[in-house]
Amino acid sequence: MIDAHIHLEKGPYNRQWLDKFIDKAVNRNINEVYFLEHAHIFKECRSLYNEMSQYNEYQSKWFAGKDSKSKDIKEYIDFIELMKKEEFPIKIKFGLEVCYSPQHEHDIEEIEKLYDFDFIVGSIHFIDGFAFSHLKQRWSSNDVDINKLYDRYYSIMIKLVKSNLFSGLATLIRCSVLEHIRQRTIVIIIKSLLVNFIREACMLKRAVVLQ
Ligand SMILES: [Zn+2]
Repeated sequence: MIDAHIHLEKGPYNRQWLDKFIDKAVNRNINEVYFLEHAHIFKECRSLYNEMSQYNEYQSKWFAGKDSKSKDIKEYIDFIELMKKEEFPIKIKFGLEVCYSPQHEHDIEEIEKLYDFDFIVGSIHFIDGFAFSHLKQRWSSNDVDINKLYDRYYSIMIKLVKSNLFSGLATLIRCSVLEHIRQRTIVIIIKSLLVNFIREACMLKRAVVLQ
């Protein structure tokens, strides 16, 4: 079994911290773990948050908090390089979870040039700057047009898949935090996304990682 979505960011980059996750995986008969860090913890990824950090007060405070603690991506890269020399009882991979917005495709390309990560997944955490999935951000269906938001979410997701920037997709049903989900539509859209994604992945001979 594979666990393809583990974040290390709540602890230090060292073998002891990594071993806590690996020990748990071994206990649960998981034989492969994909570690991935959120782009928002790294200075080099700041530009991806330009719109979201200016959207409203809640979001600008959220980003300011993250930005004040952000680190150099080199810290993560150095840690990966060190760990690649070590032995583990299971297979492990290191990657990134990058917040995707269509206007930042070039920025994401630049981030991808920084290091040859084992994998990079794209996530949609904002719709045109609105961080809809932040659970601490109070909003209701009276404040926004849910159907429009929902359609926009999946049109951005199709762009994400077609961008060929990622080896995986991490927020396939993140929109489930939206109220009034139209179940049938979601199934149809997910099917077409999957077909598209697998086709693109096969063309690129890259691993398909669905989380
Ligand atoms: Zn995540």
